[in-house]
Amino acid sequence: MRAVVVEQFGTVPLSREVPEPVPGEGDAVVRVGATGVCRSDWHAWMGHDPDVVLPHVPGHEFAGVVEQVGAGVRDRRPGMRVTAPFVNACGRCPMCAAGQHQVCLDQRQPGFTHWGSFAELVVVERADVNLVALPDHLDDVGAASLGCRLATAFRAVVDVGRVRPGEWVAVHGCGGVGLSAVLVAVAAGARVVAVDVVPAALDHAARLGAEVVVAAAGRSPLEAADAVRTASAGGADVSLDALGSEATCTASIAGLRPRGRHVQVGLLPGAAGLPRVPMHLVVAGELQVLGSHGMAAHDYPRLLGLVAAGRIRPGELVSRTIPLARAGQALADLGASADLGESADGKRSGITVVLPQE
Ligand SMILES: [Zn+2]
Ligand SMILES: [Zn+2]
Repeated sequence: MRAVVVEQFGTVPLSREVPEPVPGEGDAVVRVGATGVCRSDWHAWMGHDPDVVLPHVPGHEFAGVVEQVGAGVRDRRPGMRVTAPFVNACGRCPMCAAGQHQVCLDQRQPGFTHWGSFAELVVVERADVNLVALPDHLDDVGAASLGCRLATAFRAVVDVGRVRPGEWVAVHGCGGVGLSAVLVAVAAGARVVAVDVVPAALDHAARLGAEVVVAAAGRSPLEAADAVRTASAGGADVSLDALGSEATCTASIAGLRPRGRHVQVGLLPGAAGLPRVPMHLVVAGELQVLGSHGMAAHDYPRLLGLVAAGRIRPGELVSRTIPLARAGQALADLGASADLGESADGKRSGITVVLPQE
């Protein structure tokens, strides 16, 4: 099969022939119909993730069809259209027993702990626990984001942020997961302030229903936070750092009203340095600082219900589709300006989806 293979961290990977995967016990092999290019793929490619061993195939956000299942798989069959949360949970540890598969103690992640979905085929471990059946009305391009960004945003806004209708939600960083959070927050009846340095990302957020956009270019994090507090009549009830940087984390916390909830969604890998966080504001305002990490497979029906009802349209996140041969360059482009706190490459907003079968 063809796959995009990272041979060296930080060097644009090319696609080449590799052996097809064979499912181990409990595993499924999925033929990848579509796979998103996500910022955490960029972190893996940069060498920020200690789990990644070279040579490596990135990709953890996909939709496709089950091709083959290993011994012991009970409920998943070849021919099923599926996605899977990027955390492939064990289903047995104390966290899984409590229903918290997204923080499984024995988790595996395609594209990180083993080869991922920038390939014609990908392995999903513990298939009975992790494969999510897709409805026919949702195509693979739209469904790919259910593996990571849309599901992550749903859990961050609805379950971790506990948003209520009429509340203000601030989204700092309007890349893929940030735009997903805008979509989810609007569907939940919240009023949304979107913050980014890239005009195209703000335009996209406004099209998805953000009521106010704040152009953060040239503003300090505290100035961006001031703009959020002004727009939201005293501060956001829920605020997300959807990029993962010291600047966006600071702006998110500082833009909350007293007793507001900050949800950290963007990755801040230790390899990139430990961010300074305005903890004095957390104490003075009794703020809550929360983390959110994907979503368990068994939690997907609520999100899929909103998709079926037409209240969330995943296709609105997608800006372009590309063949596998261009995936490596797309990965490099995604992070080219991340150090500047940019969520997009300056020209394009939204999610790039790779079509490995083309
Ligand atoms: Zn992701
Ligand atoms: Zn587990």
